[in-house]
Amino acid sequence: MSISVAIVGSGPAGFYVAAALLKAGRDTEIDILERLPAPFGLIGYGVAPDHQTTKKIARTFGQTAAGEHVRYFGNVEIGRDISLAELRNLYDAVILAVGAPRDRALPIPGIDKQGVIGAAAFVGWYNGHPDFQALDPDLDVSSVAVIGNGNVAIDVARVLVKTPAEMVASDLPAYAARAIHGSPLLDVYMFGRRGPVQANFTNVELREMGNLEACVPIVDPAQIPQAVPDGMADRDRRLKEKNLATLRGFVGRDPASRSKRVHFQFFAAPREVLGNGRVRGLRLERTRLEEGQAVGTGAFFDVCCGLVVYAIGNAASPFDDAPFDTDRAIIANVDGRVGEGLYAVGWAMRDPVGVISTNRRDAVMVAKDIAADIGAGNKPGRPALEQLLAVRGVRRIDFAEWGKIGAAEIANAAPGAPRRKFLSLEDMLDVL
Ligand code: NAP
Repeated sequence: MSISVAIVGSGPAGFYVAAALLKAGRDTEIDILERLPAPFGLIGYGVAPDHQTTKKIARTFGQTAAGEHVRYFGNVEIGRDISLAELRNLYDAVILAVGAPRDRALPIPGIDKQGVIGAAAFVGWYNGHPDFQALDPDLDVSSVAVIGNGNVAIDVARVLVKTPAEMVASDLPAYAARAIHGSPLLDVYMFGRRGPVQANFTNVELREMGNLEACVPIVDPAQIPQAVPDGMADRDRRLKEKNLATLRGFVGRDPASRSKRVHFQFFAAPREVLGNGRVRGLRLERTRLEEGQAVGTGAFFDVCCGLVVYAIGNAASPFDDAPFDTDRAIIANVDGRVGEGLYAVGWAMRDPVGVISTNRRDAVMVAKDIAADIGAGNKPGRPALEQLLAVRGVRRIDFAEWGKIGAAEIANAAPGAPRRKFLSLEDMLDVL
């Protein structure tokens, strides 16, 4: 007897767990529910629009979605169209792969001023995410501060300073291209509260900052240590050494050699957003490291900027009536188990770090949990969901329909671009 599994969320975590369930050897019918019409979550709406190679994994996910035992239910929202309790009644197992859509809070004075934007919203905006298209950030500014030293911070900085020519092969929406390329931006400040060794940039991303057409990286040599401190695992040490070498290569670049600059500033913790209502600057405190942590030195400095983007990591949101661990900002779980027949994977279940394939580990673990926990399937699954959605008049997008929408996006692309994303459900439905 097959078991029925509903996966909520169609990002990498959702698709990896679908693939793991199919490999687990049990006869399993899988339905993937997604609140947006478009599948693939952060692949479409989080990965930077100029990093198309990273998005190729969507092809593999698409093969999973088109498989015999899998159905895609796009534009179906838990809490709006069906409750989590109802879903749990219909399926032997429900897996929450709902990600960590919020920015971690940055509780400093002035954070609520106009012109301070969390990276989740800013990245969503330049990726055409339906929730953030109306963000309309004011980019009529000459300098921007980006807080954080992770890959999201570097994505934000890079997308802001790349030229139109460098973005040709991207799927940056036209409204974002107009705002970014029409901006008088000259300087981006990247602030890390700790040092270059502690920065989370991967080396490819960091190196890219040294090869931009109109932007030069600026680094203070006094902030780059001679060597990686002892006590680090070999692999981490090698990665850190590469980053230090890359940063050393940036030292001495001529600030006037390009029209824009990205200033890497380490040991600088944000303390206050300055300005009356609108951002006019950022106050920071110099830090030093004590046992690896940033400790304020009491020395403060200000930078002028008209926009602050904080990219300090993500946090999950409470999801319907699933138990939530407020301290860790994740769905409360033990190794992916949330409750009877309820599981979580990916950023909803653990710290929101790692690359796309990091989700595979959780997926395999939860697929094993399910194999161990669920006996013979005894819930109605897909036919019952389809019936319920039909009764409620929900316009579900299935995977074949998404295929047509995706093909139209590709056909509509500007020369050199991979696709032109549809920005509304209405435009997508017009294609169908
Ligand atoms: P992240 O790697 O965790 O970086 C967050 C940064 O914010 C860290 O530098 C952290 O500093 C800093 N931070 C946290 N709280 C702060 C505070 N109160 N004040 C100042 N700084 C603060 O997170 P992310 O950049 O959002 O990326 C999430 C994951 O996605 C990462 O694993 C990343 O590699 C991955 N990702 C990968 C790519 C890619 O491969 N191209 C692209 C995007 C994202 P501390 O270290 O001092 O806490």
